[in-house]
Parts: sequence; C-alpha cells; structure tokens
Amino acid sequence: VSIVSIRETAAGERRVALTPETAKKLAALGARIVLERGAGAASYFPDDAYAGVGFAGDGDAALAEADVLVCVQPPDNARLARLKRGAVVIGLLAPHADPGRLPALAAAGLTAFSLERLPRTTRAQAMDVLSSQAGMAGYKAVLIAAQLAPRYFPMLTTAAGTIRPSKVLIVGAGVAGLQAIATARRLGAQVEGFDVRPETREQIESLGGKFLDLGVSAVGEGGYARPLTDEERAEQQRRLGEHLRNIDVIVTTAAVPGRPAPKIVSAAMVAGMKPGSVIVDLAAETGGNCELTRPGETFESGNGVTIAGPLNLASQGAVHASEMYARNVHNFLALSLKDGALNLDWDDELIAKTCLVRDGVAPEPQK
Ligand code: NAD
Repeated sequence: VSIVSIRETAAGERRVALTPETAKKLAALGARIVLERGAGAASYFPDDAYAGVGFAGDGDAALAEADVLVCVQPPDNARLARLKRGAVVIGLLAPHADPGRLPALAAAGLTAFSLERLPRTTRAQAMDVLSSQAGMAGYKAVLIAAQLAPRYFPMLTTAAGTIRPSKVLIVGAGVAGLQAIATARRLGAQVEGFDVRPETREQIESLGGKFLDLGVSAVGEGGYARPLTDEERAEQQRRLGEHLRNIDVIVTTAAVPGRPAPKIVSAAMVAGMKPGSVIVDLAAETGGNCELTRPGETFESGNGVTIAGPLNLASQGAVHASEMYARNVHNFLALSLKDGALNLDWDDELIAKTCLVRDGVAPEPQK
C-alpha cells in the first residue's frame, strides 16, 4: 500500500501526521510512503529529513496516489473527493465539527477512521491521540497563564522582600489537567486541583498538588465523568465561588465526552476574583468552562481578570505533538499492516469502534 501525508490546511494547524521516524517504521512494514513537498515544514521536519520516501509536487498529486491518507485534521471535503474510491483516511476527523464531512467521506466511497473514537483501553493506549495531544495542551495552557499573569509563580526571597507564590487552581484533572498541575508545580506555584472523579485526588496529590474537595462526585461510563445534576452543580458552584476569591490563576480543562464543556466558572465568580487574576480556558474549543470565555481570544474583564480561550494548543508544541501523534498513527496502522498489505480486522474493536465510514457506508447510526 501507499501511505500518503499532505500539508495540513486547517487554520492554525502546524502538526503533521507522519514524521521522519514513523515514515521509516512504516516503510519497514512494507508500505510505500508519499509526501507532499513541505508536509512536515510547519512542524520543523524538513523534506530532507524524510529518508527513502517519495515526494509529490502538490497535495492533489499526492492524494491521487494514496491507498491510505494519514492526517491530523482532514483536508476539506472537495479534496477528500479526489481520493481513490476504497482509500482509507486516518486522523482526527471530528465529524461533528462539519456536517458535510461524513457525507463527503461516504460519497467518495472511502473507509475512514476517526482516532478520537478509540476506546480508552489498555491496548489502545499506544494509539491514544486524545491523551498524547491533551498533555501538550495542558503544558502550554500553564505557560500561557504564567505569561499573562502580572505575578511570579514561584516564591522569591530577595533583598526587596519576599514574594509569595501564586495560587493556581486546575479545574478538571484528566490528562490535560494533570500535565497542567505538574507544569505549574515545576514553575513553583502553589497548586490545587479538583475533578468530579474521586480517583483524581491521589493523582493530584502525587504531583504535589492539593485536592480541592467540593463535595461532588460524578463518575460516568468508561472512566469518564458524567454531567452533574442541578443540585450537584449548585453545590459545586457555591463552594467554588468562595474559594476563587483567593486564587491568582485558574486553568480549566473539564470535559464530558460528546457534550459541550460544562460551565463551571460563572460571570459572578469572575466578578468576585482579584484584579490581576488570570483564567486560561482549555475547554474553549467546546464552548469553554468559563461563562465569559471567547474562543480564540484573550481579553480583560471589567474587574481586571484576564480571560484567555486559546484554541488547538497542541499545535503550538508542533514538534513533540507531531512526534507523539505520528507514533499513535503508526501504532494504529501496525494493527493492520503486514508485508506491505493492509488487512483490516473488523472483529478487532480498535478497528470497528474507530471506523466512521466503511467503503462509503456508515456502519451504524452515529451518535
Ligand atoms: P476529558 O478530556 O473528557 O475530561 C477532562 C477532565 O474533566 C476529566 O478528568 C473529567 O473527570 C473532568 N470533569 C468533567 N466534568 C467536570 C466538572 N463538572 N467539574 C470538574 N471536572 C470535571 O478526559 P480525559 O483527560 O481525556 O480522560 C479522563 C480519564 O480517562 C483519565 O484521567 C483516565 O482515567 C481515563 N483515561 C484512560 C485511558 C486508558 O486507560 N487508555 C486513556 C486516557 C484516559
């Protein structure tokens, strides 16, 4: 089979799905690798770093050769239609982000795998793009917060007196939140975290953070959180509002799969925060955990609280995010690739659950 990667065209996307390392590994499994010239350039992998691959002059020429297209975000629907019927597309296909995408994949007769649908099982960990990319996002979110804050994170003892460390609260302690806690700790802040999954207490503490107990536990299916009831939400809000008066920086990362981000920090809570506080809302992409967040913008509220809603933070760490993403893609392909041929085992749940469209047909009604 030929495995193809082209330049990403989504706005602000710097990552690439095939790195020199994984191109070599996939070639060793017998695949022919074809790249659009400059496909890795935005993540600082120049063409000449890719040894032994073929280059196509432009994206359309590359697409025409693809048995398998690997991408981070999918090309637009018109370009998907240029793929051969029966070709395979693998990436973060986000069918909900564009209502035309699923019909376009189907009309082109493609087989498409949306990696964000991988089950979060032990076997899937090496392919888990949500985890590998969320870690980078959590890390960058804290650096943005530190950059925006008018205060130091660490405690300083100087001839001009002592500076107290910043108090940082991380809301949501999943993959992104735990990396945010670790990063804020390394910068010397006093860090607290909370989540509605009780097992996060130990995880937060093991990173040197303090667990903020808001008296709400809401465990759902598959190790994820469930939405809160109205009473639980009111209780969480009451306790949190009090607490935020003393916090210098909040980084929010809370999510419930398949739903808009839970609104956790209300406008009233922001109004009660100290001037010079900072909120970085990692959930901006799905609407934000803070009621005031404007996705893609940074602004100051009336009472001097800076609120940032950055998008696609993983792309800001394009080198390492691409390295991890490309390894995830390689590990997913390695399930099916042997002696240069691709054989999809539809009895394997990693294949079946990730599939969005099979030979132009959606295998089951999509949620
Ligand atoms: P996510 O991005 O869906 O959510 C982020 C966090 O927000 C979660 O920890 C969630 O509990 C929390 N949250 C949701 N609603 C909240 C609320 N109202 N208030 C506070 N916090 C709230 O989750 P994720 O980071 O992708 O993964 C969550 C967990 O899934 C992981 O920590 C892990 O336990 C599990 N997981 C398992 C595997 C695996 O075994 N292969 C891989 C990845 C993740």
